[in-house]
Order: sequence, then C-alpha cells, then structure tokens
Amino acid sequence: MPPPGRYPQVAMVGGGQLARMTHQAAIALGQRLRVLAADADEPAAQVSPDVVIGSHTDLDALRRVAAGATVLTFDHEHVSGELLEKLIAEGVNVAPPPAALLHAQDKLVMRRKLAALGAPIPRFIAIEGPEDVAAVDDFAALTGGPMVIKAARGGYDGRGVSIVDDAAQARAAVADYLAAGVAVLAEERVSMRRELSALVARSPFGQGAAWPVVETVQEDGICVTVIAPAPDLSDESAAVAQHLALRLADELGVVGVLAVELFETMDGELLVNELAMRPHNSGHWTMDGAATSQFEQHLRAVLDYPLGDTSPVVPVTVMANVLGAPEPPAMTMDERLHHLFARYPDARVHLYGKDERPGRKIGHINLLGDASTASAKLRERAESAAHWLSHGEWSDGWNPHE
Ligand code: ADP
Repeated sequence: MPPPGRYPQVAMVGGGQLARMTHQAAIALGQRLRVLAADADEPAAQVSPDVVIGSHTDLDALRRVAAGATVLTFDHEHVSGELLEKLIAEGVNVAPPPAALLHAQDKLVMRRKLAALGAPIPRFIAIEGPEDVAAVDDFAALTGGPMVIKAARGGYDGRGVSIVDDAAQARAAVADYLAAGVAVLAEERVSMRRELSALVARSPFGQGAAWPVVETVQEDGICVTVIAPAPDLSDESAAVAQHLALRLADELGVVGVLAVELFETMDGELLVNELAMRPHNSGHWTMDGAATSQFEQHLRAVLDYPLGDTSPVVPVTVMANVLGAPEPPAMTMDERLHHLFARYPDARVHLYGKDERPGRKIGHINLLGDASTASAKLRERAESAAHWLSHGEWSDGWNPHE
C-alpha cells in the first residue's frame, strides 16, 4: 500500500458498471477507487481492492465508505439528501453536493428549476395530490392530448414513465403513481426527430468542459446506441446545447460529470428532458473516442484537478450497448468474444462482469471511424457486434465458414 496521503482517495457510492469503469480510470492516476457495493459480486466490487459492503440507505455504511476519503461521489442518484447533509456536517466532501444532486433525483424539482432558469423544456404540470388531478383535463386540452406521465422520483431506464394518448389514460396513470405515494409530472408528448445528449464536466474551481453533442437511440426506454458526434447536427445547435449544459452545470453547482438529455423537435428546437450527475451511458464512447474519457474527467472534476481535453480522437465513434438477451445464449461469452474479434478486430469491448439477464446492460462496444467512414455504416457494424455478443447470433446471418 502506498503511504496514506500520497494519492487522493475517491470513494464512490454504488458498485455498478459506472464505478467499475471509474476505477479503471483511477488506476491510471495512481489511485484505487473505494466503492460502497450492495454485495461482493457487483461489477466494481469484483475489481476494486477497497470495497465496503452495505446499503446506500444506511448512514453507517456511508460513513464507512467516506471515512478518510478525499471526496465522496456516486455511480447512481439514489442517496437521500438528508443522509448526505449529515455526512457533510461530519466533514465529508460530497460531490456533486446534495443541493445539485436533487435536480437529478426529483423530476419535478428539476423541471421547476429549469423553468426558472429559462431553459427550454416540454410544457408540464405538477400533480402532487388528488386535488391536482382535475388539472390533467385542461392540460390535455391545451397540449392536444398525447402526454407522458412521470413519477417525480424513483424511475430510471424508462421505469416510472407512462406514455398516454388522452386525459382518461393520463388520469389512470397518475392515480397509480399517487397511490404509490409519489408526486407526478404530466408533460406534453414531444414529437421529436431524435434524442441528443450534451455531456459536460465542472470542477469546484469552476472550470467547465464539454464533449461533442451526441445522438442517443433508445429502445423500450433503454439507451442502445450512441453516435458521436450527432450526425447532421448544425454547429450552431451543437454550440447551443453545449453552452446550455455548461450553464446548467454552473447554475446548479454541479461537481463532476453532468449529462443533459435533450429532445430535438421536428422543427429543430432543443428541449431538456433529463439531468444525470455522474458518468452516463451517453458518454461511454469517450473511453475510446475522446482524448479524455468521462470517467477520468469525473475523477478530475471531483478532485478539483484541471479538466482534460474533450476533443474527439476520430471523426466519428459509435457506442452500442450489449443487453442481456431474452434467452441467454448457450455459447459462452468467451466463445462469443473469439468470434466477435475474428469478424471485428477493431471492436473495443467493455464488459461489466454481470450475469446475463433479459434487457440488462452487461457491456458496450465502441467502434471508431475515420474521415472516410459513413456514420450509418459504422452504426450498423457496432449494432451487429453488440447483437452478436448479446445473442450469439449474427443479425445478418453472417457465416465465417462460407
Ligand atoms: P428515465 O428517468 O427512465 O430516463 P425519461 O424522463 O428520460 O425517464 O424518459 C424515458 C424516455 O421516454 C425518454 O428517453 C423518451 O424516449 C421518452 N420521453 C420522456 N419524456 C417524453 C416527452 N415529454 N415526450 C416524448 N417522449 C418522452
């Protein structure tokens, strides 16, 4: 062990793939990431030598992971502000601070704050109790009917989000969430061309850095593909999105990586959907496609180091998520990798050490293109590679022996 104090000690709440990949970046900086994991088999707990087993809802477990650490940060947004305030009162440096994190935990707080800051967002109403339900009818009349009903707290990867066509369906969805004790948000359903993400980082010193804006493709509410940079996005729109994300990071006092998920409407307007204050799926491409990965940048930001260069290293990078197949293939992952590398020697594979379960994010693949690469073609290859790792079947029927 190096003597204490020679290297900073970053502690991360959560032992998932984001912590695992942050640990990977910590190694290059001479560090080892300490993680709070629910059990020893979680992706980051498998690889970090410094694991605290416990729950993020348990103050004592949080104290143990934070003990002596330079900074405490997160691989998810589920730690209550109340517990974090207690840690801060005991002298723990928490990044991002709970006052910022709240905007990634509560969609209603986030929408209201963005509205107050004049950021472009979908029209919405808050439904915090039965007395507000009647407002759904007026809102439907105002916006034309199609809506998205969201639980203010507790949702992720499309859970806690209901797509509805009219006021009657909206009221039913609202009633379910209210019965579960959560406040609800009714939003107009945006007709969108596509979804984008503006990823930035901010340090306590106040330095900000933005990566190129990317296109994110979702299926069933889960991000499956990311194209960096977003194809055919004008320089002007990209700059607007980057400036907006940097401004929000500043106004909210974010420390670390901030992902601003955006909708691009049919007429080219950008609306903010969601905020995430941690490394994000839309930034996995940076591990191979940018001068500084989001994981290293998150560490630099929470440690108040100068931020790294966010330039892309190639003209286009595509990231495809590897999701657990509905039926896990009989072929081992080991054998699937052999075949994958035979067909795609340039595939950059990142596996998370997770058991395969349907729809679960178990890894991702990055493919890098050069100036002669069409991004659509690169996307096809990346999705084919990811499909193969998920299913053990080539989506185009490719046979190496033919
Ligand atoms: P989560 O917290 O699960 O990520 P989001 O608020 O990001 O929930 O919504 C999940 C997905 O639902 C979005 O990626 C988008 O595809 C769709 N969606 C959310 N809000 C709207 C909206 N107002 N209009 C149209 N689609 C939406």
